[in-house]
Amino acid sequence: MRNNVCGIRQIKQAYILEKAEQYKAVMAFSLRTGGCSGGPYKSLNFSTSSGDSETHIHKNLEILSDQLNISSSSIISCHQEHGDNILIFDHFPKVTMRGDAIIALEPGMYPSVKTADCLPILIIDPITKISAAIHAGWRGTVLRITRKVLITMTTKLGCKLENLLIALGPAVGVCCYEVDQTVIKPLLSSMPWAEKFAVQVKTDSQKLLKKAKIDLASINRHELVESGILPENIYLLNMCTSCHEDKFFSYRRDGEFSGRSIAITGFRSLIEKKSV
Ligand SMILES: [Zn+2]
Repeated sequence: MRNNVCGIRQIKQAYILEKAEQYKAVMAFSLRTGGCSGGPYKSLNFSTSSGDSETHIHKNLEILSDQLNISSSSIISCHQEHGDNILIFDHFPKVTMRGDAIIALEPGMYPSVKTADCLPILIIDPITKISAAIHAGWRGTVLRITRKVLITMTTKLGCKLENLLIALGPAVGVCCYEVDQTVIKPLLSSMPWAEKFAVQVKTDSQKLLKKAKIDLASINRHELVESGILPENIYLLNMCTSCHEDKFFSYRRDGEFSGRSIAITGFRSLIEKKSV
């Protein structure tokens, strides 16, 4: 399968997809360095969910948005809940809504998701200028959130699959993501083909996988290609959050009090809109 593994480069505190700039768009995955948070959140943390302060998050957003040359108030986040709710916005929401995928219909609005091991997926459509950010952990993957976002974009919003440009960010890799039946059972029941992206660790007497290491990025990449996305339009950062302690937060590695990275996408606008 052909895939783009290059085309993503590091700027100061983020990995960005270079090709997105060609379309006056941003596709960025933050690093954990260069921020103002301390302790387990050191230092570019974007979530208060594990205990860091709002002030730190706000400052960190300013630091990253300055580097991306966007307004921090034009970044849209949601309360993520490992589900498959897809939020669609044509203007800035007044309250933070619950969901695990955000689609923005206008330039100047930047959907984002926060992760620490789960897979962030960013999508842009250079024709309609629609952008999307997906939070795909194992639960979202089992619920097929990636496929559902594509269906929403094509059937409701007029996007064409062949036009979509997609970047898969850092996530816990197959090297470090050992799971048991709690994950394997629903995963293989939802998508039996995912077995080829699971490395056997332990089987039972019926040779069924009891424990396995799974490859979230490859499963979601397969889902994208099977849904009709051109392989050459899929870009993979291909870096394990748990292995790269200097670059990324990892819930598996660091536990409950880990920080969160942010993945941001969207089309630049001549006049940057600001949320109210
Ligand atoms: Zn790893």
